[in-house]
Amino acid sequence: MALVSLRNVTKAYPPAERGGAPVVAVDDVSLEIEPGDVYGIIGYSGAGKSTLVRLVNALEPATGGTITVDGREITALPERDLRAVRLEIGMIFQQFNLFNSKTVEGNIAYPLLVAGWPKPKIAARVAELLAFVGLADKAKNYPDQLSGGQKQRVGIARALATSPKLLLADEATSALDPETTGEVLALLKRVNREFGVTIIVITHEMDVIQSIATKVAVMDGGRVVESGDVFDVFSAP
Ligand code: ADP
Ligand code: ADP
Repeated sequence: MALVSLRNVTKAYPPAERGGAPVVAVDDVSLEIEPGDVYGIIGYSGAGKSTLVRLVNALEPATGGTITVDGREITALPERDLRAVRLEIGMIFQQFNLFNSKTVEGNIAYPLLVAGWPKPKIAARVAELLAFVGLADKAKNYPDQLSGGQKQRVGIARALATSPKLLLADEATSALDPETTGEVLALLKRVNREFGVTIIVITHEMDVIQSIATKVAVMDGGRVVESGDVFDVFSAP
């Protein structure tokens, strides 16, 4: 069974001006993402990629179609039931979105505090995650004392803290130089292989898709215009 399934999903925003046309950010998208996939979604700016991610994370409601995550039809669930779904989804961002007033370990511990874990269990989990992302020596540092690549490694550790099945990476390497991008993508590959975490990679960069994804959907104007194995999609004449 697919981990994430979208059937005829649409997201329309109200018109910017009275009497104008609605903005259709996502237009009749159907996708199946299987457990263990590294699934790329590529397209130019404005193609609808970020909107699609916000729909999968249940941060916004779809205006049409159905979305199923890990067997639960989130488009049919009330808000109070969406919390449990979001706990199964980790997210990393272009600008890292770390708490600048919290240390590295404070950032990673945060989702576990929210989830109500006891203190000793949090400390053990944070230590484990710091070791995994190679930042054990930065535990007491603040984000502004880290390089971009280090910040994203903290972002990855925080996103994985509650052991989600699904990781959403929204332009996660777009603020990084090519070498650091390679390091972060290598870490994401380990997250996929060692923990079996399914990853959706949103990007406008073909290199990123070719380096990490096994499957890809190409978005344009809110629609998926092509999808399939990366090799097939990008080797087409
Ligand atoms: P991408 O992530 O591929 O750059 P987005 O999903 O951000 O694309 O945007 C897709 C389209 O939806 C764009 O035309 C954008 O202006 C519009 N859009 C995105 N968010 C909103 C919003 N909250 N209100 C109105 N229009 C939006
Ligand atoms: P075990 O059942 O022995 O914990 P696992 O394969 O589940 O074996 O996990 C091995 C290690 O990886 C454990 O220390 C676990 O906490 C950690 N781990 C498992 N899943 C995730 C995940 N999604 N994100 C981060 N770490 C994880």
